[in-house]
Amino acid sequence: MIPATTIGKIGVSIPFLLTTLIVAGCAEQPEIVERRLLAMGTWVDLTVIATPRAAEAALDEAEAFLRRFEVDYYAWAADGELARLNRALAEGREATVSPEMAALLVAAKRVNALSGGAFDPGVGALVERYGFHDGNAAPRTPTPSEIDAWLRERGSIAAVDIDGVRVTARAPVLLDLGGIAKGAAVDRIVELFHRHGISSALVDAGGDLRVVGTRDGRPWRIGIQDPRADGVLGVIELADGEAAFTSGDYERYVDRGGERLHHLLDPSTGRPALETRAVTVIARDGITADAAATALFVAGDDWLEVADALDVDAVLRIDSSGRIEATEAMRRRLVTGNAGQWDVVADS
Ligand code: ADP
Ligand code: MG
Repeated sequence: MIPATTIGKIGVSIPFLLTTLIVAGCAEQPEIVERRLLAMGTWVDLTVIATPRAAEAALDEAEAFLRRFEVDYYAWAADGELARLNRALAEGREATVSPEMAALLVAAKRVNALSGGAFDPGVGALVERYGFHDGNAAPRTPTPSEIDAWLRERGSIAAVDIDGVRVTARAPVLLDLGGIAKGAAVDRIVELFHRHGISSALVDAGGDLRVVGTRDGRPWRIGIQDPRADGVLGVIELADGEAAFTSGDYERYVDRGGERLHHLLDPSTGRPALETRAVTVIARDGITADAAATALFVAGDDWLEVADALDVDAVLRIDSSGRIEATEAMRRRLVTGNAGQWDVVADS
């Protein structure tokens, strides 16, 4: 079964009372204002604590931003920045990109190198062979010769050079930023909220999220979804500005002949990475958390080494047998849940 969206990956629903600010002569009080929209193939829930007027202005701008972003950063869009870049690279031309795209490509290249190639947005052609690029189509298993063809070519972001805003490729590559773009979107919305003077907010893109400030003076709390059952493995606290992103084999998949065909592909085998069910990473920004979650998922049993290389210390990982492993930095965030079931490994 293919879940329609990743909604509920991390549920956020702890009701609370907002302290009422009594400001003489000021009619508008801060309120919790929420907006839900479908973007980047998932439900995006934006929660802002501000006066209604300030909240609506910020949310309108965030919504308009997301409408543009989901086209610009989707490799298979009819027309968008990444699609244009891929066309130029396919034709052996140099492309000029926006400073934001250039910065994301530089970040992606860095994670690719530090993860020993586990994270590689150069997997676009492979993603296409599995059909994971098309949200409306069922995934398919490529034939062994299709996988061999991929392994011979092995498109990689390592062959992409970024010089300022000029981008070239030394070898054929189709870039798919699906493993990092949501982090960039979440970061850009947090910046947008800051520009609007918002000091309390939650940006939740289908369970991948980042917080601003606190929720009525207390840290934002989020639940980490159990990858094989309804319910959460624990509830953790996030400090101002932190992001928590999860990569899981339950987000987009089909079960076939006892094997799970899912969307996190190991570039070195051309097949779905099989050693992990889910990885959650807490980091100081969305780009780092998103890319690291994807990288550590694909790294499998070597996840701790890759976490070390990427300098992320708060990680929760469920392996293919259901064993829950966590770093000490992650365990310290746990506020409710059965930490006794967590196998705490050395901090990276
Ligand atoms: P989501 O949270 O949207 O499910 P993830 O951050 O877990 O996304 O990344 C999954 C997506 O990343 C895939 O759908 C695909 O587009 C892309 N991808 C798959 N394998 C890799 C990989 N090894 N490195 C980088 N990106 C990948
Ligand atoms: Mg990711």
